[in-house]
Amino acid sequence: MPTYPLEKLWALELFRRELKGLGKQRAALAEEREERERLRQQADQKHNELHERKLRLAIDQQKLEMDVEKLTTRQQKHRNQLLSASNNREYSTLLSEIKHDGERQRTVEERILEPMEQREEVAGEFERSEEELSVINSQGEQREKETAAEEQRLSEEADLKQRGLAKLVAQLDDNTARFYRRIHDTGRPICAELRERACSVCGVELPSQAVSEVLNGKARQCESCAAMLVDPESASQGRAIIRNLEKS
Ligand SMILES: [Zn+2]
Repeated sequence: MPTYPLEKLWALELFRRELKGLGKQRAALAEEREERERLRQQADQKHNELHERKLRLAIDQQKLEMDVEKLTTRQQKHRNQLLSASNNREYSTLLSEIKHDGERQRTVEERILEPMEQREEVAGEFERSEEELSVINSQGEQREKETAAEEQRLSEEADLKQRGLAKLVAQLDDNTARFYRRIHDTGRPICAELRERACSVCGVELPSQAVSEVLNGKARQCESCAAMLVDPESASQGRAIIRNLEKS
């Protein structure tokens, strides 16, 4: 295996991890926004439904009230006609009409109570949902402002990391650049730190021979996950490379 500048590979690995972390944070914010919007729409829909119910009940009540009015008018008209009834038959027909309309009127008046009571109930619910919606909207606006600022910050940080990564890639010799691109395209980790005696990516413990080779700066891949193993000194140099790149 050819020798690669392990400190640079480690710095590349750290840049990639940081970019991945930033990407996850942005995805979480986007998900939170979607969930917020879903809940807002739900509350909005509930509010609209209550509004419609309120209107329907008002119409129902109005219709019944108009029925009562019609029946009252008719009874009044028939009572007036009683005075000028020309015979008994006409008189008793009018009387039975009046009686019949009176009974219908009472039935309708009883039915009016139902939409009236329901309207009161729905009006209470409607008021509560209005308050709920207004809280959701104002909290949502506040959170959206915070989210937008956070997204802006994450995006600037990602740009910074991306520029650092590009600068570092430009500094690589052809051989290392090819190695980096090959692994980068697979999405696998480029390298792993040697921690104690184990690979920091997959946790597999290395044989003593391999450990001492890595510590002596020899290029070795983890036999389990294929990440290039980096000794602690190269790892610390890699971190220094990142600090310098971000400063410049
Ligand atoms: Zn491994």
